[in-house]
Amino acid sequence: MSFLAKGWFSLGDEFARGFRWRLGGGERIRFWLDHWKGDRPFWSKYPLLFHLAEHKEELAGTVWQGTADNGEWRLKVRRISNDLQVQELAALLEVLGETSITPGQPDQLEWIDSPSRGYTVKVGYVWWSKDKPGNQEMEEQTPVLWRWRLPCKIKIFVWLVLQNRLLTKVYRAKWRPNDLTECGLCLGEPETVEHLLLTCPVANRLWAGLSTTTSNHFRFQSLPDLWEAMRSIAPSGGRTLQARFLNILIPAGLWAIWRTRNDATFRGQRVYFENIWDLALGLIQDWGRHLAGLKGVSYVGGRLRCE
Ligand SMILES: [Zn+2]
Repeated sequence: MSFLAKGWFSLGDEFARGFRWRLGGGERIRFWLDHWKGDRPFWSKYPLLFHLAEHKEELAGTVWQGTADNGEWRLKVRRISNDLQVQELAALLEVLGETSITPGQPDQLEWIDSPSRGYTVKVGYVWWSKDKPGNQEMEEQTPVLWRWRLPCKIKIFVWLVLQNRLLTKVYRAKWRPNDLTECGLCLGEPETVEHLLLTCPVANRLWAGLSTTTSNHFRFQSLPDLWEAMRSIAPSGGRTLQARFLNILIPAGLWAIWRTRNDATFRGQRVYFENIWDLALGLIQDWGRHLAGLKGVSYVGGRLRCE
């Protein structure tokens, strides 16, 4: 039966009129279909995940496993296979945050005054950062990230990295404790965000390569190191061409590593350093030309330069 036949899309209309559930025991709220958390029902906000959900009409109370004080949201979704799905999952887990059910208390319908306006990255930032513990300083400063000239998806990705919220294997092991956690690139150390993107031998080689070809010193031991470097390079998105060029180098490196890791983890592709390097260069040239307003980025004689 199609979603339309079941009338699921009509829920969007109710949402537009300013209707929302307040979560109690989760016995009436349908986790995916009803609007109860965030600015829209989850089916509409996270369509890729909803597509993978095993029980589309599952009640919130059954997605929650455990007691009110000691439990967790256990999403029953089929195999996640690409990074867009991973991003959606990360965003959903962020939004669920510290939310838990209150057994025995009825779910209640409430009317919200003004219907929500569209979703923007800035709103997303405010909304994500609510009730979220983390590195205070980093959190206050990450808004500069939204002014950088990068694809929206990449800004969200970098933001997740800086918040240590990327869905690495170590992160996933929190709710899937039996999964293996070794790094998807070197198969050595546990795959934390810092290892995978910064200190893994494979990642290290990329940072060393980007350093020598651009006469920079990209060497990061920790996420605060990374943030410090990104912030000091071009604090407000970069006025000069050179600053805008520098702005895209680190995000391109991070994304190239992450993409390669996902291809290795989810598609079983072998990891070749040359592929990561080519991917990073391709991104730098593409973003440089289309987003950072550079005439071009050249790679000649082992030097990477912007024009
Ligand atoms: Zn590694």
